Parts: sequence; structure tokens; C-alpha cells
Amino acid sequence: HLDRIDQVDGTLHSFLHVAHDAALDAARAVDDSLAAGNEPASPLAGVPLALKDVFTTTDMPTTAGSKILEGWRSPYDATVTTALRAAGIPLLGKTNMDEFAMGSSTENSAYGPTLNPWDTTRVPGGSGGGSAAALASFEAPLAIGTDTGGSIRQPAAVTGTVGCKPTYGGVSRYGLIACASSLDQGGPCGRTVLDTALLHQVIAGHDPRDSTSLRADVPDVVAAARAGASGDLRGVRVGVVKELHSDAYQPGVLSSFDAAVEVLTSLGAEVVEVSCPSFDHALASYYLILPSEVSSNLARFDAMRYGLRVGDDGTHSAEQVMAMTRAAGFGPEVKRRIMIGTYALSAGYYDAYYGQALKVRTLIARDFDAAYEKVDVLVSPTTPSTAFPLGEKVDDPIAMYLYDLCTLPTNLAGHPAMSVPSGLADGLPVGLQIMAPALADDRLYRVGAAYE
Ligand code: GLN
Repeated sequence: HLDRIDQVDGTLHSFLHVAHDAALDAARAVDDSLAAGNEPASPLAGVPLALKDVFTTTDMPTTAGSKILEGWRSPYDATVTTALRAAGIPLLGKTNMDEFAMGSSTENSAYGPTLNPWDTTRVPGGSGGGSAAALASFEAPLAIGTDTGGSIRQPAAVTGTVGCKPTYGGVSRYGLIACASSLDQGGPCGRTVLDTALLHQVIAGHDPRDSTSLRADVPDVVAAARAGASGDLRGVRVGVVKELHSDAYQPGVLSSFDAAVEVLTSLGAEVVEVSCPSFDHALASYYLILPSEVSSNLARFDAMRYGLRVGDDGTHSAEQVMAMTRAAGFGPEVKRRIMIGTYALSAGYYDAYYGQALKVRTLIARDFDAAYEKVDVLVSPTTPSTAFPLGEKVDDPIAMYLYDLCTLPTNLAGHPAMSVPSGLADGLPVGLQIMAPALADDRLYRVGAAYE
């Protein structure tokens, strides 16, 4: 994999940092331990992984795709990082991402975009485009992403890979640099559903260091993936979400989706249409709640505690240094969201914007609850179109936001969801999105493995 990175990453730019020697050392430590007669630390011991550069690592830089963290080194490992190391998984390096995970194309990275391995004139999705491109180009067999509004599933869809956003709270956020805390969720990415399940098992579980971490048992996603591989979906009720199916989507995406529904039916699933009317307002709700949380979370980048510091030459006040550092260190999309969020939370506007958005969030959760009284899982296309050309949406924030249409509702509800490859449209990968109720992550793996 390191050789492959050497060959292709000059073009693709999946990685922001490659840990060549440390990865080899970790792999050799696994070999030595096995040679000494020890049991492997996990089923994935020795299988290398690409880590999104938003999880802290003591032995590598962590930038979150931002200039404001350039040169910063975390004094501690994220819980996910610790779990990976304990499982004997060598870390190949840190992958590129939209700055602070805000974006749908990886073009908002302060370190330049990642290219889609299927067509290098196109984006790999975002914000976790680096992790998805690393998988699709065979630079890494496993990767970790984070999904606040689709950043695991949407890159998976447009690179022909698998990505799962677990139930909110299922994977620890300790050491995950915050974008929007009530939405952020780390999760596993792979090239097959079973690989993804094995990785899910390694990273999921309760963490006392994360106050929103779930105490519930982790569903047996590996058993579910193995059960699904038999291809038998008899007794499984699948709902097609009417509101996530629109004539405005790319025709090839719609025909791939219709074919996927036929496959699920042929495997024995009972497929019905369900309506979730509040989903029409998911985008408006998300793009108020997310910036509100961003404006608060990113206040910590005050030029004193982390990374970049501009103007600290004895002639400027602390406030000036902070303003100069934030002006130089944050990119345009981050600044846009801090401004929107600050406005939405300000006195006099709070009820009209943030408060309303929270009410919509509740309505979306209720729509899901009603749907899951009738079906076990919901399905939709993961994205409205295949990968778009680099530069196409970068100056049009609304067009970029609209690309998240299908993935946002599950984040607002805190539910798990997965994207699995669903063939090609016009030569480019398409994803099938599978959604399930909270704590029923295993259903995604069963249906995903059967479909795959
Ligand atoms: N594209 C969405 C956004 O820009 C989702 C990002 C994410 O999931 N991190 O907010």
C-alpha cells in the first residue's frame, strides 16, 4: 500500500501525511507478535488503514484540512486512534478533507483538492474525499471517515466504495475535532460490506470520555454482514422514501436506484413506498443547526491555544492577534458558516432561525419513527448525481449544499445509514443509501451485504 501511495498519490492527493516508517513498524510488530505465538489482537491485525485528518494522533500532524492547525501536534490520541492501534491496524497516514469537514467535494481543503480515481477531472465527494479516494485507488484497504451531514456516505457513493455512519454516539467523538457536535459521527469505510463491518466492530463502543457516547451494546454488525451475504432478505421490509426520489436527480442515478429496488425485491424483501414530508425541510434545518454549532465550536481557535498565530510581534493586542489569525487561518467556507451561525444564534434571531430549525429536526425524527413502524430499513439514492467536475460548485455554496439532500435527514435524527456501491451511471459510480433506526446498525450490514 505504501508503494501504491508512492505511485498514485502525487496525482490523487488522498493523503495529507504519509506515515511510511511508523506504518511499517506497526506492521512488523504484528508479524513479530504472531511469530511469537500470540493470538492476533483483532481480525484486522496487520491490515493497514487511512485515517481522516480530523482524528488526533500523537505521532502525526492533525490539521482538519485547515491552515489554522498547520504545525499543531496533538498531545493525545483520539479514542478511535487508540482503538485502531490496539487492534493492530497500522496507520498509513492522514487523509485529506474539506476544512473542518465543511464541504461536499474536498475542494475546501486548505491543502488543495483530492481527485476522484475514476476520473481525475472530478471530485471524490466530501468532506472525506481523501479516505474514499484512498480506498478506490487501492492505496488503503480500510479507512475512517466522519459523517456530520453525509461526509462518509457521499464520498463512498461517488467513488464506488462502502461507508457507514453509525448511530450517533456509537463511536466516540473524543479526539475528533468538532464540526457540529450534535451531528458529528465517526465511522468505518471499506471496499466491501464485511470489511466495513469488521472495522465498525473495532471502533464502536462506549467511551467515558465522550459525554454523548452510548452505553448500549454494539449490535453484532459482523454477524449481520455474514448473514446478509447469503443473499436472503425474506421477511425484511424496505421503504422507498418518496421525498428522496426526484425527477431533478440525474436520470442514470434514478435508473440505478430502480434497478437496486428490483434486486432487493428479488432477494425476498418486501418493498413499499413511504412518505416523510418533513425531509423537504432537512436542508434548511441542517444548514442553520450546523453553522450555529460551528460558530460556537470554532471559537476555540483563538490564536493562543492551537497552531497558527499571526501578528504576535509585540505591536498588536491579543484581540488583534486573534482576529488576524482567524482571518488568515480560516478558509472562505468556514468563515461563511461562522457568520451564518453567529447570526442565527444572536438575540432577536435565535427563535426565528435556530429555534425553528430545531423544531424541524424534531419533525424529521417523527417522520422516521412513523416510517419505521411500517418498515425495517429505508432506501434512497445516496447522492442526486454522480461525481461532479472539479470547480463546478465551488463558487456556488447553495449548489454544494443541495448535493447533501439525501444524506442529511439521518444525521438530524441521529440514525445510522450506509452507502453501498450500486453500479455505474454514465461510467461513474452510484451509491445506494440504506437507513435504519437508532441502534439498529446491524440491519444496514445485513441488507448491504445481501445487495452487494
Ligand atoms: N457536506 C456537508 C456539509 O458541508 C456534510 C459535511 C460532513 O458530513 N462533515 O456540512
